[in-house]
Amino acid sequence: MKYIIGNWKMNGSKTELDDMIATLADTKTQNRVVLCVPFTMLGTGGANVSIGAQDVSAHDHGAFTGEVSASMIAATGAKYVIVGHSERRAYHNETNDIVRAKAQMALDNGLCPIICVGETMDEKRAGKTFDVIQSAVRESVPADVQDDIIIAYEPRWAIGAGITPTRQEISDAHRVIAETLAYMGLDGTPILYGASVKANNVADIVSIDNVDGVLVGGASLKPQDFLPIIENAK
Ligand code: PEP
Repeated sequence: MKYIIGNWKMNGSKTELDDMIATLADTKTQNRVVLCVPFTMLGTGGANVSIGAQDVSAHDHGAFTGEVSASMIAATGAKYVIVGHSERRAYHNETNDIVRAKAQMALDNGLCPIICVGETMDEKRAGKTFDVIQSAVRESVPADVQDDIIIAYEPRWAIGAGITPTRQEISDAHRVIAETLAYMGLDGTPILYGASVKANNVADIVSIDNVDGVLVGGASLKPQDFLPIIENAK
């Protein structure tokens, strides 16, 4: 079983989501499929697919205009939430401390946080990839985790760029994350790869050691792109 998690970002419509859910209901797969959709599309679901959100407030409730709490997300029936996506880190200045607070809120409300970590191109060029992802895991994962969490390794320079790291680069990054999680007492935590995953590279990517699935952006939006990814990930 592999995790295949789609991140629709600020795309799609309720009609397109209904269409995707209906298509997935007719798809036989051993994989665990999750669609992380805009807040306005939460509150649905179907056979073979769980629904998640793409962000959550670090606060429980109160005067935080525009924010959505973990309990509100959980009340829609959603089971997952992405935290610390690179676009949140880049455009909303989210630090590891903020990401950890959000992940804690998710856990406190029965949601599984999908915690994203990954290096920028500048960090990669400076040889800092392992330092960045190691400290992101150490600082973004809440203490004393008792429930399910997922880590997504997303090299920020490859997201939406149509390029993927080499097998060796993915393998090295996932090994470092697995070792860091083991040191934290969290061995067995699923580690997903994300950035420019497509139907034609997913089988190769999920065959790499310590890759337990994929987080898919652009190619999760249309059934004709997403279904072959689900089918090819074995
Ligand atoms: C993402 O933003 O999480 C992502 C993986 O995007 P893409 O697949 O489009 O590179």
